[in-house]
Amino acid sequence: MDEKFLEQASNLEQARRDEALRLFRERAPGGPGRADCEDCGENIPPARRVAAPSAIRCIACQTTFERIRK
Ligand SMILES: [Zn+2]
Repeated sequence: MDEKFLEQASNLEQARRDEALRLFRERAPGGPGRADCEDCGENIPPARRVAAPSAIRCIACQTTFERIRK
């Protein structure tokens, strides 16, 4: 076993761990999506996270955000 092999094995292990962590976070309790609102930091209701996994704001902040953008 040379050093290069060990380094590759180590990198692979790291990549696997990152992937596992990512999957774990996506399956966090309450479903996919983030737990806290980007703007106000309030918990995003699990139902909203399941319905809109890409949502990063609570319903109130998302409504405000969309109103400002228009
Ligand atoms: Zn909010």
